[in-house]
Amino acid sequence: LVKNRSEQKMEIYSANMEEKLSKRLKLEAKLQEGLEKEHFLLHYQPLFNSKAEEIVGVEALIRWQEPGVGMISPGKFIPIAERNGMIVKIGDWVLKRACKQLKKWHQLGYEDIYISINIAPQQFSDDDFVHKVESILLETKLDPSYLELEITERATMKNIEHTINMLGQLRELGVKIAIDDFGTGYSSLSYLKEFAITKLKIDKSFVMDLTTNSKNLAITETIIMMAHNLNLEVTAEGVENNGQLERLKEQGCDTLQGYFLSLPLPENDLLKLLKIKK
Ligand code: C2E
Ligand code: MG
Ligand code: MG
Ligand code: MG
Repeated sequence: LVKNRSEQKMEIYSANMEEKLSKRLKLEAKLQEGLEKEHFLLHYQPLFNSKAEEIVGVEALIRWQEPGVGMISPGKFIPIAERNGMIVKIGDWVLKRACKQLKKWHQLGYEDIYISINIAPQQFSDDDFVHKVESILLETKLDPSYLELEITERATMKNIEHTINMLGQLRELGVKIAIDDFGTGYSSLSYLKEFAITKLKIDKSFVMDLTTNSKNLAITETIIMMAHNLNLEVTAEGVENNGQLERLKEQGCDTLQGYFLSLPLPENDLLKLLKIKK
């Protein structure tokens, strides 16, 4: 039997779909397994104050160490975990792991360091989230003011009423809140003043060609000024060279983060760095 062209096309089409689907299912199964077998780990990237270049905090960044595959970056699996909802379980794990780790560093004598944790939109939209944060704080006996939650503009703009309510409750717990990747979303400035946030994190796309692009220099300057006028702290991410560092210092940026200062580090290497810096 000879098939016509459109039938052949359909078959190829569905074969592709099937292949994609089975790839996705495999990845989902692997994510689930990874969570159960603890194939996830956290790296910690230091945040430095711009005045003395001291470590004031660390951002927890998830890594997936898949046996036989190696290290998989969050850019590859977080979007998938967001699509299939697994991000909530992964996020719970990150929150607990990171808070326990910080408690350990505090007990080792580095009691001024805070931890910053990325929160996915689904975690933030879950009404139970405040409760989860509260129980982890109680469980770890961590001072809430040493916990900073990073939320993207995208997540805050989904449902303004929910955001205002949620941020209010989180601030009542005493935790800090940063808007991550600031400038890349479409946050409305009129809402910004309604949000109980404590920090803006300037996205690295503005920092990237800071020394060669005068427009980006104007953008970082404007964000820093605005943040300060709103009584917010401001951090720049993606600092990769000394030129960028100097410009951001001149502009009064409070905290700096980037490969030029330190890569994200495994637990042990971070501790070594803390020892050297002390
Ligand atoms: P992010 O929160 O904006 O984190 C900053 C990213 O920039 C990190 O990538 C970091 O390694 C990278 N970075 C730091 N310094 C530099 C620099 O100087 N130059 C450049 N080009 N990049 C720099 P990473 O670790 O691959 O994470 C990517 C994104 O994945 C994060 O962006 C965050 O959105 C997400 N992510 C990471 N960990 C978690 C997590 O535990 N939960 C959730 N929901 N998302 C996470
Ligand atoms: Mg972040
Ligand atoms: Mg960021
Ligand atoms: Mg970013």
